[in-house]
Amino acid sequence: MNNNKSSRNNKRIVVKGAREHNLKNLSFEIPRNKLVVFTGVSGSGKSSLVFDTIYAEGQRRYVESLSSYARQFLERMNKPDVDFIQGISPAVAIEQKTVARNSRSTVGTTTEVYDYLRLLFARIGKTICFQCGKQVTRATTSTVVDWLEDQPDGTKFYLGFPLHQHKGHALKEEIELLKKRGFFRIYCDKKLIDLNEEKFAVKNGKNIRVIIERFKSEKGRIRENLSDSIEVTFKEGENRLVVINADTGEETEFNKYYECCGIRYEEPEPRFFSFNNPFGACPVCQGFSKTVGIDMNLVIPDPNLSIMDGAIAPFRGAKYSSFLRDLVQNAKAFKIPINIPFKQLTENQVELVKKGFGTYHGIDGFFEKLEQKTYKMHVRVMLSRFRGYTTCSACKGSRLRREALQVKISGKSIYDIVALPIEHSLKFSQELKLSEYDLLVGERILNEIIKRLKFLNDVGIGYLTLDRLSSTLSGGETQRINLATSLGSSLVGTLYV
Ligand SMILES: [Zn+2]
Ligand SMILES: [Zn+2]
Ligand SMILES: [Zn+2]
Repeated sequence: MNNNKSSRNNKRIVVKGAREHNLKNLSFEIPRNKLVVFTGVSGSGKSSLVFDTIYAEGQRRYVESLSSYARQFLERMNKPDVDFIQGISPAVAIEQKTVARNSRSTVGTTTEVYDYLRLLFARIGKTICFQCGKQVTRATTSTVVDWLEDQPDGTKFYLGFPLHQHKGHALKEEIELLKKRGFFRIYCDKKLIDLNEEKFAVKNGKNIRVIIERFKSEKGRIRENLSDSIEVTFKEGENRLVVINADTGEETEFNKYYECCGIRYEEPEPRFFSFNNPFGACPVCQGFSKTVGIDMNLVIPDPNLSIMDGAIAPFRGAKYSSFLRDLVQNAKAFKIPINIPFKQLTENQVELVKKGFGTYHGIDGFFEKLEQKTYKMHVRVMLSRFRGYTTCSACKGSRLRREALQVKISGKSIYDIVALPIEHSLKFSQELKLSEYDLLVGERILNEIIKRLKFLNDVGIGYLTLDRLSSTLSGGETQRINLATSLGSSLVGTLYV
């Protein structure tokens, strides 16, 4: 009886209490090794059931079965909202992985090079501040000690933290709180002030530093003498610390946040660099790299024509000829040649023709005007003639959010690397000079990247870029990639042993 039951279960996938998305606590059984079709109106939950519950659970179990080394390349998967699933084999999930390839997949993602790159950037990438171009770091006691060790012997310093300015606390209250906590010295406008002795009038708490300690720098003794004070300062200063040169008043700030120039950065992690993940994808194009917009190739269909000969297609008809007239009238003053082929215009001149100059409102202005009249049929028709997929202006086609592109290795962002032909990204990877620490945490990953790039180069597709869409490859190129990928993966397989 018992045996019967289990053999019956082996032939079925049993799902109980599925509630993913809009599923209403579904329980059912489906036969295994059979072609099963789910039908229903759109939005009825077919995908929630098949992909987000059954497939997701299979995938999750497969991932859990992998070694922890392999797992770190994959995004953490949440358990689907279901009480019980039985009869799913991990193999099902692997089979489907190739099927579920999406339109965003690239040479880099199919060959796994991109996964390793994401991991490498998360491990050893340096975040560069938008504002000042310096590397963003998170300070520790050691950072402060090392910095002080580099200062000339005998320099007088104050160690302190910026006065807290909590919401709802007036400056006076903050200062009273300081006294209660036993801090009596503050530094403000290049003066050291004793809160017990002087009546002082500061209106702005911004420049006030609470001083914990005064000392003279002494090489070789900083760690021993000051480590405790530095730690206390970080603690009292809510992760912020200031070292003030007592003679010059020059301040050096350290904080335990990943922050620079007042901008809080996020520390890189692999999904940061994934354009298939909402966390990493460019918010404008959702990681597709293209948005629907005015396609300049359609606006200037024949760049051999001059502006006067009608290079700008939408200005040709009588209806919108006023734009051409304005352009021509202002052209001389703005040094725009109107009698030479459009393709001979400089980048700057093309930009002016787009953005407008003088009383001419530009190609952009022209389309903006049309956009306001889309209630008219002929305007919609007109617009549709010039609309196409264009490179996303927010991410410049990189598919990634701006912050992810600020993370660099040897001056290059992950996008800079995938935009290179494989033979060049291989060269870059091979010639990369890493610090001792970066080598320690990154060498193994870097070697995986080099190995794969080398296979791709060896099978003769070194001219392709890693960001090339898989869907645009020729049959031969796809075959070569599959060959190089299976060679690459089989070697990784031996690594797990
Ligand atoms: Zn406060
Ligand atoms: Zn900065
Ligand atoms: Zn974008």
